[in-house]
Amino acid sequence: MQPKILIIEDETDINQLLSKILESDGYRTIQAFSGTEGLLLAEQESPDLILLDLMLPGLPGETLLQRLRTEKQCRVPVLVLSAKAALSDKVTLLKTGADDYITKPFEPEEVSARVQAALRRSGSAQGQRPDADFLSYKSITLYPESRKVMVGGVELSLTSHEYALLYLFLQAPEKVYSRESLYELVWENGYYGENNTVNVHVSNLRRKIKEAGASEEYIRTVYGIGFQLK
Ligand code: CA
Repeated sequence: MQPKILIIEDETDINQLLSKILESDGYRTIQAFSGTEGLLLAEQESPDLILLDLMLPGLPGETLLQRLRTEKQCRVPVLVLSAKAALSDKVTLLKTGADDYITKPFEPEEVSARVQAALRRSGSAQGQRPDADFLSYKSITLYPESRKVMVGGVELSLTSHEYALLYLFLQAPEKVYSRESLYELVWENGYYGENNTVNVHVSNLRRKIKEAGASEEYIRTVYGIGFQLK
């Protein structure tokens, strides 16, 4: 089966050109002309790769990308298309979950090469699933490489201990951790004793998740034992 590529670009000429380039490379293409249509087709069609323009009517490309990565848990490679000047914030964009970007105006050869490389990296060319490069649970997503944590579309600002606690919880959702074991795993030294440290950090973490607009309390107290992500 040929890889399926979703093109989200509101300028008809550019959308058609991209579709032509990719179909002549042997891919199937689906075209969306607004952000909202793009989000819908990304869900309905399960494409192997998405080409995403940033300046889109309906839903801006950046928002669409965040929603795909967090709400929809969509992990397909996304290549962002944008005029050079709009790409001043490339690093942020890559952290948000874009895999690569193509600057406009582009050469057909560049589009072909970048699409091919992204598909190869993701394993879609061989029909494999890529390894997870983030951990997520409901609306929380954690990116270990950048140490970034998102709740919905909001980035959390965490201390290193809060981050480490959340990382543990996300690695094993629903696992119940005792306060002692959390202390040993996160602080890696010392005797727990009557120490209140874990409680304090867990409650700070809860507060930050709540302030980011989460609709539920993720870290539950298991009475007499400790905490779990649920
Ligand atoms: Ca546009």
